[in-house]
Formats: sequence, structure tokens, C-alpha cells
Amino acid sequence: MKFRKFGKLDWQASVLGFGCMRFPVVNNSDAVDEKESIRMIRYAIDNGVNYLDSAYGYHEGKSEVVLGKALKAGYRQKVKLTTKIPVWAVNTESDFDKVLDEQLKRLNVDYIDFYLFHSLNIDYWKKIQKFNLIEKAQSAIKEGKIRNIGFSSHDSYKNIKTIIDSFDQWVLCQFQYNYLDSNSESVKYAASKGLAVVVMEPLLGGKLSNPPQIIKDIFDNSGYRKERSPSDWALQWVWNQQEISVVLSGMSAMQQVQENIKSANISSPGLLNRKELKVLERARAQYEKLIPIKCTGCNYCKPCPQKINIPWVFELYNKGFIHQHFESYSRAYSMLGEAKADACIQCAKCEKKCPQGLPISKFMSKVSGVFKTCAVK
Ligand code: SF4
Ligand code: SF4
Repeated sequence: MKFRKFGKLDWQASVLGFGCMRFPVVNNSDAVDEKESIRMIRYAIDNGVNYLDSAYGYHEGKSEVVLGKALKAGYRQKVKLTTKIPVWAVNTESDFDKVLDEQLKRLNVDYIDFYLFHSLNIDYWKKIQKFNLIEKAQSAIKEGKIRNIGFSSHDSYKNIKTIIDSFDQWVLCQFQYNYLDSNSESVKYAASKGLAVVVMEPLLGGKLSNPPQIIKDIFDNSGYRKERSPSDWALQWVWNQQEISVVLSGMSAMQQVQENIKSANISSPGLLNRKELKVLERARAQYEKLIPIKCTGCNYCKPCPQKINIPWVFELYNKGFIHQHFESYSRAYSMLGEAKADACIQCAKCEKKCPQGLPISKFMSKVSGVFKTCAVK
């Protein structure tokens, strides 16, 4: 494993972090496959991973429980543990303590190393100030419940800069960053202020691991490191940048853990040469043309009052679009019953919660129209 300095802390973090939002599940259900998840987490730790990331809402609260079980048998002492408080669920000062105590109980630990305000934006920042949540977090440090404060965000550079400049004791921040979402202003600014930068969605919810053939061809015909997989290309793009401390991967199979560890072991700032970066630039340009709805599958938009599984509807549409064959996905679409895109009542509740700022209701009309033309009889 390779390690990098973690912002202003005197600590070296593994370049690969285990994101605990996509554990394997049992038979396509919502139930986490605990045994396999624990095996994967411990394998990662045994191979040098020392940074684990969860959140209150991941796997509807089960992520923290499973992670807590994985950290028994001496594994807790080998890692730093991150979890996040959902600012949207905090409506009084005392809610902070309630949520934190529940998380400590779920994780079955005495303290959390890095406690993050989840998906912080400028509105939530105002809420944090209104309910004195920074002071609450500082009290939690004094009580020994947490050790460091940070935030994750999908907001604009302007707002992120405001948030960073408003508090001088942030230790870390977490951003979505990959060769498709390559706006580096927030990353560079946070690093210049001494914050450790942790990257989420380096593979865009797995989409960069399984690109369409036209993208695979760009990599395969590049003449560079033929053995490199699409995932490795994407991960190395992030690790190539020295401002990054940890790259999180939400791994859902042991094979992914093993492949990502292999990639991490060869990573280094400045590893990619100019020609390799050009290959990635060509892939990015091609992707831009192909993916019509840039949904990451984060599920933050749920629940929809019409029970529409928004990311799944978009995934079917994107796949149909990329392969220019909607018929291949119309059967899966028809299985949605009453919760197809045409059930959308354009309430826009989902749009307020979408960190990607997607015009979801507009896309629903488009998706509905396209799938109607190839409806399964
Ligand atoms: S706009 Fe449509 S998809 Fe979004 S929450 Fe409302 S009904 Fe659901
Ligand atoms: S539509 Fe937005 S909030 Fe919903 S899953 Fe996609 S990216 Fe996430």
C-alpha cells in the first residue's frame, strides 16, 4: 500500500480508502451481505487500507452496523474511522448529540476519528450556524466522542471556499472528483489551506469501470500500459495529483477490493505522462458525448412521492442511449409498473436534494417519451 500525508495531521493515510456505501447485498435485495462485507473490509485492512468511510444514511443505517462488526478482533486499532452526520436531519441543537450517540452505538466504538457534515452546501452551512453545530462538534471533541471535524460537499467552488474560510479548524473535506468531474478549484483551494482532500466517486458509481466499447477502444488502442483496466486508468488520474490524500472506492465485491489495492500499490503523484493524460482527455471528451444524464446513483433524491426509483430509471435510459438500443432496456423499464417516468408529477422535490443539480423532472418527461416508443407489448 502507498501512503500520503493527511493534511495538517501528523499521520499517513493509505491512498485507497474503503467507502462503505455499496456493500454486497443478498439476492439483489436491500439486505447487506454481512459476512462478505466483513471479509472484504478485513482483507483491505490486512493489505494496508487504514481509512474507512461511512455515513448515517448508507444502506439505511446498516453500513455503520456492519462496519462496527468488521472492526472487532483488533481491526479498530489499525484504522481511522470516518462517518457523517446528515445535516438535513438535524433540526435542533440536541439532535446533534442524538445522532452522534446513535452512530457511536451502531458502530460500537468509543470514538470516531473524522466526523463530517454530510453533503454540505451553503444552505446547510447556514443551518449549522443557526444551531451552533460547530460548537457542538467541538464539545464532542472535548468529550472524546470525535477527534476531528470535516465536511463532504458537492457544492460550487464559490460556496466551498466560503465554507472553508468560515472555520479555521477543518481537518478534511471530501469531494466528488474523477476524470469526468475534473473541476480542480475546490481540491486545490482546500489543499492550499492545509485540509486533507478525500475523493469520493472516483469511478462515478462504477460507470467508469465498465465503459462502453467506444471508450474501451480508446484505452486499448492508446499503446500505453495495455494491461491497465478502465478502473485503473480512472483511479490513477486521481492519484496522479499530489493534492489528494485518499481516494475512496465504494467496493461491492472482493475482486474490486483486490484490483483497487493493486492499483493503489503502483500509484504515485505524477505517475501519468503527458500522452497518458491525453488518452484520458480523449476518453472524457467521448464520454461527454455519450452520457446524457450524469446521475451518480447516490440515491439522495429518494424518496419520490410517486415511488419512482429515479437513479434506476436514469440508468436504464443512459444504457439505452449509450448503446443506441432502448429496446434492450424496455423490459426492465416495463417492470417498474406504476412507478415509471410518466408517473412524475413534476413536483421537483427530488431536484432540491440532487447534489449533481440535475433537472430530474425535465429528464423524466424525456425518458417517458423515449420508452413509450419501444414499449413491451
Ligand atoms: S419531480 Fe417527479 S421524480 Fe422528482 S420527486 Fe417529484 S414526482 Fe418524483
Ligand atoms: S438523480 Fe441526483 S440525487 Fe438522484 S441518484 Fe442521480 S445524482 Fe443522485
